[in-house]
Amino acid sequence: MSELAERYYKVKERIRIACQNAGRSEDSVTLVAVSKFHSIDDIIEVANLGQKEFGENYIQEALEKIAVRPDLKWHAIGPIQSKKTKEIIGKFALIESLATDSFLAELEKRTKGSKQVQEILLQVNIGREEQKSGLLPEDVLTFAKKVLLVPTLKLTGLMCIPPLDLEPEHTRPYFKELREIKENLEQELSLSLPHLSMGMSADFPVAIEEGATIIRVGTDIFGPRKSH
Ligand SMILES: *Cc1c(COP(=O)(O)O)cnc(C)c1O
Repeated sequence: MSELAERYYKVKERIRIACQNAGRSEDSVTLVAVSKFHSIDDIIEVANLGQKEFGENYIQEALEKIAVRPDLKWHAIGPIQSKKTKEIIGKFALIESLATDSFLAELEKRTKGSKQVQEILLQVNIGREEQKSGLLPEDVLTFAKKVLLVPTLKLTGLMCIPPLDLEPEHTRPYFKELREIKENLEQELSLSLPHLSMGMSADFPVAIEEGATIIRVGTDIFGPRKSH
């Protein structure tokens, strides 16, 4: 078995165990293999092991990969410049990083009149970090109301990237807070939001315990990234 396959199966096994510990069914958690900076060959190898959903941060890189494998389900997980919006419509099963008025306005404009609905998550800056994008927790409700006015967008949940910490237990309170924000939104808006996208290589088992339905794992599957 290749190293890549070994790492992939190890992640799958850790998901299985985390679900078991949390009393959740395994199919309640979707694994997104985060493939930024990794080659299309590695992506294809992981796809051949049965992996269907992949996450990319950079639009140009993502579009090149999507062109090769449009059959896979692609998640946009990085900040997106409004001017790139036109290029991404119809390419991503899920856009996880909506958080600005300008991107929302552009999404509305570019999808207007379309019969297809773009599924999106709102990114929340759960650690209130200046260098990170995302809505502040107190702004999520107001922003969500604006999204609900756009018929071509379907809001299905929230995403966060907590402050980097090597000790996963330190991240648990952020995951808990995102879940509470989601539950509050559901109540305020009288709708159901199925998704919480949270948990990466360092902390996905804890995220699963706190209710993650989407985990985004890069390094533990593909190995370390070379930076651009
Ligand atoms: C890179 C990235 C990941 C994956 O991180 P790993 O630590 O390599 O698992 C997950 N989510 C987002 C938004 C990322 O940018």
